[in-house]
Amino acid sequence: MHDFSTQSARPDVDREELEFDVLFVGGGPSNLTALWRLLDLIEDQNRKPDGKKLEGLTIGLIEKGDEIGDHAFSGAVLDPKTLIELCPDYQERGFPSEGDVKNEEVWLMTSERGGFKFPFTPPYFRNHGNPIISLSRMVRWMAAEIEKREIPGVDVMLLPGFAGIHVLWEDGPTGNRRVAGVQTADKGVNPDGSKKANFEPGNRLKSKITIFGEGPRGHLARELEEVLGLQKEAMNPQVYETGAKEIWEVPPGQVPEGFVLHSTGWPMAGGESGGSFVYKLGGDRVAVGYVVSLDTQDPFADAHLMLQKFKAHERIAKLLKGGKLVQYGGKALAIGGWYSMPRLAFDGGMLVGDAAQMVNAARLKGIHLGMKGGLCAAQTIVDAMLADDFSEAFLMQYSKVYLESWAGEELKRTRNFHGVVAHGLSPWAGFRLGLGLLTGGWAPGDPIHFMDDADCTVTTERYYGKAGLHRDSLDLGVKFDGERFIQKLDDVYQSGVAHDEHQPAHLKIVKGDDVCVNCWETKGSPCTIFCPAQVYEMHPDERGKVKKVEIAFSNCVHCKTCDIKCPEQNVIWTPPEGGGGPKYTIC
Ligand code: SF4
Repeated sequence: MHDFSTQSARPDVDREELEFDVLFVGGGPSNLTALWRLLDLIEDQNRKPDGKKLEGLTIGLIEKGDEIGDHAFSGAVLDPKTLIELCPDYQERGFPSEGDVKNEEVWLMTSERGGFKFPFTPPYFRNHGNPIISLSRMVRWMAAEIEKREIPGVDVMLLPGFAGIHVLWEDGPTGNRRVAGVQTADKGVNPDGSKKANFEPGNRLKSKITIFGEGPRGHLARELEEVLGLQKEAMNPQVYETGAKEIWEVPPGQVPEGFVLHSTGWPMAGGESGGSFVYKLGGDRVAVGYVVSLDTQDPFADAHLMLQKFKAHERIAKLLKGGKLVQYGGKALAIGGWYSMPRLAFDGGMLVGDAAQMVNAARLKGIHLGMKGGLCAAQTIVDAMLADDFSEAFLMQYSKVYLESWAGEELKRTRNFHGVVAHGLSPWAGFRLGLGLLTGGWAPGDPIHFMDDADCTVTTERYYGKAGLHRDSLDLGVKFDGERFIQKLDDVYQSGVAHDEHQPAHLKIVKGDDVCVNCWETKGSPCTIFCPAQVYEMHPDERGKVKKVEIAFSNCVHCKTCDIKCPEQNVIWTPPEGGGGPKYTIC
């Protein structure tokens, strides 16, 4: 099994052990919804005159960002269905909406000046009346609402700045492996692994039940997969897109309130899938982003470059004219959907949100589906506490309820979307997508299989011919001017990313530098291109040979793309010391 930590087990270190009844790992919308609803249900239960009381409880939530919301990053236009279920009076309680969608445009772009606007909004893109949000602001609001709660006999701890580094395992009653909590990362460690003067050992957070909501490609979810084989029964692997997004401040009134634009086509090469979004935020801000499917064969696929090119289109240039960049970020999105979902429950724990592929790729939406996962998980946690049964057999009730809910129905209706798109955009693909719409998800070939993203990349010679051995030899089609067209490193500066550089690199090369050198010679080192933060660099000597990959880990915005898309599977992303990473405030 891989060692998923940046640190050794350190048998010489005494670790404090803290006991929880329920532990949430990750401060995203799914886990915060689960925690919020859990508190509601505990209150309801304790009000019953003759029911069993849920008292003397300790509930914790750890988050690797310095503050909850620092690492939250998404589009986004929210389908408010679950939010209403969770908090019907969300508007009165100061929910941070950026405005409701009033004006939607969907484009098929063909060139910098070409393309056409659809005369109607295709079904998957209909968002009229839905709130536009900054996910970072939304989860900060949720955390603040939770912190206001006071429930007698229930101690709730929100613990930002703590990364879970390992799953804690126990032997269950039948010799099975049971999740017993997580260990947090040590702080104050030198790059060589020795302790600094300010060394603080990570704690063992033991819990009766642990909810993993780490977002896409969680490293603890990877550990769970290796030990428990949660993906074994899934038809398809877990797959992703990577998005790069900029927030711009534009002259007042230039972009109307409630404006949303989506596009597909140019600047992506024919046959590759990806697309753009533009959302009007509160004040005079606009979010503009581009997502690229990681099943691409292109070794030089680069969401950041696509975003820069996209801003050259005359429709987008008009929206951004006279504006300036104020924030930047990058993130992977889970897009496999129904046929890629892992087993949702196991002895001592459950998965929610992107970690469980709860995303509708056709609508480019997952927040409402992940939050619904949180609602269903909360009910099962209460039932498990009342029954004092945290076995997989009991917790699978969560999976059943979720998959049979409207959220499961929504995922089922688009179950073949990625499968169709992964086989290339063509009239046959259009026909199969149309049939899927009419039949509630069925299309010829159902279930349509697809490959793991890492296996899709081909050699540079196969994709570009001999002329394109390395990207430096290609015309990128963008003139970076530092105003509208921003170099990657200048963009990264706007993400607020920071890590203590004097710590072990949290990006681990697991198969050795030789594998990277070989990848440079055959595939042009895709990590040096797809990483939206330019963390990886290869520096050839005067004979054009490279010896090793150089990793500027302090720029990492925690998007996980390298962990997903490295064609050699030579990189594992692990959490740095808690608190490091981007600092998103309006993404
Ligand atoms: Fe994303 Fe990996 Fe780059 Fe970090 S190093 S920003 S996780 S691709």
